[in-house]
Amino acid sequence: PLVLGIETSCDETGIGIVRGTELLANIVSSSMEEHARFGGVIPEIAARAHLEAFVPTLRRALDTAGIELRDVDAIAVTAGPGLSGALMVGLSAAKGLALAAEKPLYGVNHLVAHVSVGLLTPASHSAGSAGGASGMASLPENTGALLVSGGHTEILRVGSLTSDVQLLGSTIDDAAGEAFDKTARLLGLGYPGGPAIGAAAASGDPTAFRFPRGLTMPKFEGSAQAPGPHRHNWSFSGLKTAVARAVEQFEAAGRPVPVADIAASFQEAVVDVLTGKAVRAAREHGISTILLGGGVAANQRLRELLAQRCEAAGIELRIPDVSLCTDNGAMVASLGAQLVAAGIAPSSLQIPADSSQPVQRISV
Ligand code: ATP
Ligand code: MG
Ligand code: FE
Repeated sequence: PLVLGIETSCDETGIGIVRGTELLANIVSSSMEEHARFGGVIPEIAARAHLEAFVPTLRRALDTAGIELRDVDAIAVTAGPGLSGALMVGLSAAKGLALAAEKPLYGVNHLVAHVSVGLLTPASHSAGSAGGASGMASLPENTGALLVSGGHTEILRVGSLTSDVQLLGSTIDDAAGEAFDKTARLLGLGYPGGPAIGAAAASGDPTAFRFPRGLTMPKFEGSAQAPGPHRHNWSFSGLKTAVARAVEQFEAAGRPVPVADIAASFQEAVVDVLTGKAVRAAREHGISTILLGGGVAANQRLRELLAQRCEAAGIELRIPDVSLCTDNGAMVASLGAQLVAAGIAPSSLQIPADSSQPVQRISV
């Protein structure tokens, strides 16, 4: 199916177009720079920016794919989770388009969309290739997903992207991306923190500081036979505090803060515990393929260490192109195409925005 995907849950206005698993267009307009001076996303600014960017972004996506709205089989839109006002802009626009063009509407889960992006392949331009309902690549058996984003950090079992997603573990406090953003602020590296820390870390020593790996003590993890309460969960708030202490010590001593070493050591701590726990959860739950998704999946060190540890554990790993990790419309279109192909009923045109939609609720 040919599906238009609309994403407005945070500060990216994203419009993507896919044919089955084939990526035809992915245009993103971000209001990130408007939020940078506040050190975080301001919901009202984000919503207003979506309103302004929506139509030009849609126009560019349709032109890139070489289609018109009337050509699409369905319209998919992020219904949640995310910022309410931001979600409402995309949902309202999607409903208007669906109504006017007489297309089915699919309100989808942003988190499952982050994972679904892993199914996409670049446009092949060869007639009759992957794309139609029959050309949908199916998910391997025993698939799991590591979702690492600005607001979520979860390890999932994915029985089906359209009907069966289960939570195996998650963060009990900060999300991985949030930890990057807060730590970057502490280090004076600006917003968003993920790319800034990654860049600073490149010239630092990851072994300079031994920062804590949250929830890895035996009382939390237990053993495979007797799992502790947080065996597959993460915690990043202690790590953030440890970084703050380290910075304070240098400042109190009147010495320059070794920003690159702290950034590299922080990044190593996050990536070590993310990959270690994800691979172990996968092994213990019989997962043989992991899809990586979410903005933090753009992190080079995470991509590298996860690939190493998956290979060592005999787990197949699928990592999306960096451009598809942070919020975009292609991921929403990808999940929409899966829903259409699976014969799932479209959404009502009265669906609300659900700012805290849980990952198990794939479509609304
Ligand atoms: P959610 O998907 O949970 O609703 P979100 O949509 O705000 O949250 P994403 O767009 O998926 O989050 O990801 C943004 C996050 O990814 C930010 O916290 C950002 O710092 C982080 N990030 C982006 N690039 C990198 C990178 N190269 N390394 C580490 N983190 C990164
Ligand atoms: Mg964003
Ligand atoms: Fe996201």
